[in-house]
Amino acid sequence: MFLSSDGILTIENVKVTEIVEETGTPVYITSKAILENNLNAYKSAFPNEGLLYAVKANNNLALMKIIASHGFGADVFSDGELYLASLAGFDKKKVLFNGNSKSRKEIEMGITAGVKFSVDSLDELRTISEIARESGKEVEIAFRVNPDVDPKTHPKIATGLKESKFGIPHEMVREAYELALKLDGVVPAGIHCHIGSQILDLSPFVHALNKVMDIAKEIEQLGVDLRFVDMGGGLGIDYEGKGAPTPKDFANAILPEFEKRKAELNSDPQLWLEPGRSIVGNTTVLITRVNAVKRGYKNFVAVDAGFNILIRPAMYGSYHRVAVANKMNAEAEETYTVVGPICESGDILAKDRKLPKVEAGDLIAVFDAGAYGFVMSSQYNGRPRCAEVLVNGDKWNVIRERESYGDLIAKQKLPDWLL
Ligand SMILES: *Cc1c(COP(=O)(O)O)cnc(C)c1O
Repeated sequence: MFLSSDGILTIENVKVTEIVEETGTPVYITSKAILENNLNAYKSAFPNEGLLYAVKANNNLALMKIIASHGFGADVFSDGELYLASLAGFDKKKVLFNGNSKSRKEIEMGITAGVKFSVDSLDELRTISEIARESGKEVEIAFRVNPDVDPKTHPKIATGLKESKFGIPHEMVREAYELALKLDGVVPAGIHCHIGSQILDLSPFVHALNKVMDIAKEIEQLGVDLRFVDMGGGLGIDYEGKGAPTPKDFANAILPEFEKRKAELNSDPQLWLEPGRSIVGNTTVLITRVNAVKRGYKNFVAVDAGFNILIRPAMYGSYHRVAVANKMNAEAEETYTVVGPICESGDILAKDRKLPKVEAGDLIAVFDAGAYGFVMSSQYNGRPRCAEVLVNGDKWNVIRERESYGDLIAKQKLPDWLL
């Protein structure tokens, strides 16, 4: 769906030049068709499983409404994400409130909304029980367990190692479920794990599933009626053009194993998954304009988006494919490093890429920017956040306006002695 016409990158049937003429740059542009392809791929690979979209990957309301309308539930990590997921219309019964450090306010909000909780500590369990009892509610919970599995991904996004801050260690899981069975207001109904993100080798998922099913068997003997086994998110996408497993591959790897291990249980839990990146990652390109080309020891292409707009390369050393969006048919001629406008040497979007001859005014497309892109953006260096656009066939809409200078001071106040 990212093709070109007259050498201009097109998203579905819209040339990016047409969009940036109106919105300016930088701008994130999302294809509705690709989003729906991804949703359908998951639904056909996992027709009987519970699919919860991990809201943190991209919480734009328009995208979340499309995702909710496809019957997905939501995995939320904060009060703000719960608020956004509610606005988007996700079915509360399919919302799981995650997080290792939830405040009382967040727990109250989740209980009022009627969502389920992934519980990360015994302290949290006691707080949920207390608030649920006070409000006369019963809350279905799962414990986030730490399976101690190496997902073979970037260390900052490996979340199931034993030294990770997430989850309850294996040897304490029994005690946790015992306490949950005793306390009022909470019903232990599931088990939850999430081993990491951008995982391209499927074997760690199978490994983790087996560990979780071992625990499931153990806690069932305590009297827990397991209704769901949530294996989290983490399926990687093809940033580098070297291929990535599809939802179907993922299903082929874990569903037979799940069915086999489920047969050992008395209860009949549903398998849940929480994909984020693999739903939205490849749906979106970031378009940024070249302010200057500087030749020297290296050839630098200086663009108007830096790690204020897309932090992944600076934060995780991530690779994103780039192209010159207005010279799609031109031959690659020279090697360039694409850098942003931020006052930090780490502000590099793409290193040593062969591109057609780049000139000031050209547009650079940064692909696969739909996950952990805009959501991680900031106003650093006094730069208002950029716009977001959704393309639908030959139509397009701005789904988030570019911020103004006013937004830079939106919540600031001057003491009266400075007025
Ligand atoms: C981040 C996260 C996800 C989503 O991960 P992706 O790699 O984007 O699929 C799902 N579940 C939990 C608990 C997470 O922390």
